[in-house]
Amino acid sequence: MTIALYPGRFDPITYGHLDIATRAAQVFDELVIGVFATPQKNLLFSTEERVDMAQRAVTHISNIRVEPFFGLTVDFAKQLNAAVIVRGLRMGSDFEREFEMALMNKKLAPEIEVLCMMTSVQYQFLSSSILKEVAQLGGCIDDLVPEYVANTLREKLSVVATKI
Ligand code: ADP
Repeated sequence: MTIALYPGRFDPITYGHLDIATRAAQVFDELVIGVFATPQKNLLFSTEERVDMAQRAVTHISNIRVEPFFGLTVDFAKQLNAAVIVRGLRMGSDFEREFEMALMNKKLAPEIEVLCMMTSVQYQFLSSSILKEVAQLGGCIDDLVPEYVANTLREKLSVVATKI
């Protein structure tokens, strides 16, 4: 049984992330979406909120589960007994960073493979940061994230706006 870990910040999870997760779940027996429990400083959502949105987005896929994690990705992968770390690649923008990170992870844990999956072309332009920017400026995000994420994002942005 091969377990794969798909780690990231998922602030929030988008259809781009879900495309990679769904396809990876077809390749591996079990896929764990690992939500990096980093301090909220540069993020819009708390770890609990990011995990909750990801969980709701994958309830219909029986071999995907979502868990928060602290510390090194390779340590969490070992804890899960995951043989593979999955990452998504968009053209140009992700390659250098993913390559560097994959080499470092390989050095830290040679027994774990890093597998990069190419984004589907319709999500090529989609990132959590551009999504938040569009939402903040009142653009339509309904075909970029699940409905629950879109509503949570709009709510969060209106709370943040009232604090400014
Ligand atoms: P991180 O901070 O670890 O990059 P992200 O949540 O931004 O966390 O992304 C997690 C993973 O999903 C990364 O491998 C990233 O390249 C990939 N990813 C993000 N958006 C997309 C997308 N639109 N299509 C495919 N992969 C994506």
